Amino acid sequence: MRLHPISLQLDRFFPKRAANPVSGRSCVLVVLLAFVTGCVTSPTGRRQLMIVSPEVAIAESANAYVQTVRDLDDEDKLLDDPALERRVEEITGRVVAAAVQRYPHTADWRWSVALVDDPQTVNAWCMAGGRMAVYSGLILRLELTDDELAHIMGHEVSHALANHTAERMSLALLTRLGVAVAARERDENNPAALSAAALAAQVAITLPNSRTAESEADRMGMELAVRAGYDPAGAVSVWRKMEALGESRPPEFLSSHPSPDNRRAELAALIEQMGTLVPAVPPQPYPIDIVN
Ligand SMILES: [Zn+2]
Repeated sequence: MRLHPISLQLDRFFPKRAANPVSGRSCVLVVLLAFVTGCVTSPTGRRQLMIVSPEVAIAESANAYVQTVRDLDDEDKLLDDPALERRVEEITGRVVAAAVQRYPHTADWRWSVALVDDPQTVNAWCMAGGRMAVYSGLILRLELTDDELAHIMGHEVSHALANHTAERMSLALLTRLGVAVAARERDENNPAALSAAALAAQVAITLPNSRTAESEADRMGMELAVRAGYDPAGAVSVWRKMEALGESRPPEFLSSHPSPDNRRAELAALIEQMGTLVPAVPPQPYPIDIVN
């Protein structure tokens, strides 16, 4: 994935050292205070470190999205395929409708999908605030059914709903800040502050890894797809296809989505629990901006 919203964000937080008026010790205090006040709970009840607020993550993601779409447009890589556009709009719209029903605060997110003309790349993503991209290779190379595409979009939307962007940014921020403060304090020969900074960095390292976030997005995504009226079995078959493709050439999706051996089994085990979520009538698609 060519997109690096985290590094864009960090540059804003970390001006060059000479321009930073805050002392190293103050930085440590800021980090620790933020840590103490920055733990929140995800939609599945998991504790999350959050020193970057979801609002900041959304604002920064908006900037990154505009730039990404502009770059894609410059490279003439925005897809012009009305039939595929309608299909993605309908499926994603129903998944988003289920998301908004469940999480009403997302009703005013800028739900949008950029359709990327890249038949070789198997990828999709959703940033904080509901800004998404779907690569044509995802649909074509995996020959996705509507149910399977709904599960992919449910998974990606869930990363945004569960504030995974803000969480990753918080982790990166804390890690980099800890290292920066450690370097500064080493210069000033202040071992007490160094140990505090080292602690801050260590805390970041020992946080739940991305596999935890992936499992969370798997479960939430399946729920959304089912609430949107799609077959829960699609979550399992899409991973089978992903694995088969990975044998010849690993899809881009797998490089950003760790694929433990038991992932498909975990999803299969969830199917039974989904029965009560099936709607009598699928929701009407929520309005989505298709960027092309
Ligand atoms: Zn994921």
